[in-house]
Amino acid sequence: MPLQHAKIMSTIAANLQAVRERIARGALAAGRAPVEIALVAVSKGFAAGKIAEAYACGQRVFGESYVQEALPKIRVLAHLPIEWHFVGPIQSNKTRAIAEHFAWAHSVDRMKIAERLAAARPVALPPLQVCIQLNLGAEGTKSGVAPGAELELAQCVLALPRLALRGLMAIPRPTPEARLQRAQFAGLREIKERLVNAGVTLDTLSMGMSDDLEAAIAEGATIVRVGTAIFGPRRAG
Ligand SMILES: *Cc1c(COP(=O)(O)O)cnc(C)c1O
Repeated sequence: MPLQHAKIMSTIAANLQAVRERIARGALAAGRAPVEIALVAVSKGFAAGKIAEAYACGQRVFGESYVQEALPKIRVLAHLPIEWHFVGPIQSNKTRAIAEHFAWAHSVDRMKIAERLAAARPVALPPLQVCIQLNLGAEGTKSGVAPGAELELAQCVLALPRLALRGLMAIPRPTPEARLQRAQFAGLREIKERLVNAGVTLDTLSMGMSDDLEAAIAEGATIVRVGTAIFGPRRAG
């Protein structure tokens, strides 16, 4: 076996181990059980071979942001029981591919997208697991429903067949300041609590990435989406 291959493998293995330890430490610091937090390994920008290496280390859930990039990788890895999560912005002309090839869509942010996903979800598959993406601070991301509009969208998703509404997702504005990170994640948690109080059943908060997963876990994240800390830096652009 080429030496370089062994070295790369051990890097992903070590990175995954380190991320799992961060999740466990973050959970315990927040008085939570580590098993309450699922890890989505965000593999955008990395080839199927890297995903297979992470799979060999026990990782089963992977996230992708671009349909065109994801489909060939999903095809190549179809022999592995991987759970694929779509985490990127959803364009309407990509809803069919997402509905056919992914178990989860984290980034539903308008009714038209929800309707198209429901219509395209194959009856033979389990319902598509859906999170509504919130646009917390206008600068963090252009995607996501504006706070205040989430109840109407949640009711729309609930009324559609073949979709299972699970929770909320956000990509807050990056900041190195732990207090600001916590405040933004707390904002998403509070929106979820308001929805639950309004009678919407939700069990998922998809929040936290490589640089801020501890803050997200402290505020109740049940899914963290981690790319760089597992696979290394992506090429710019
Ligand atoms: C790229 C991406 C991630 C992973 O970000 P890292 O900072 O590399 O951990 C998580 N969520 C979404 C929606 C992404 O697009």
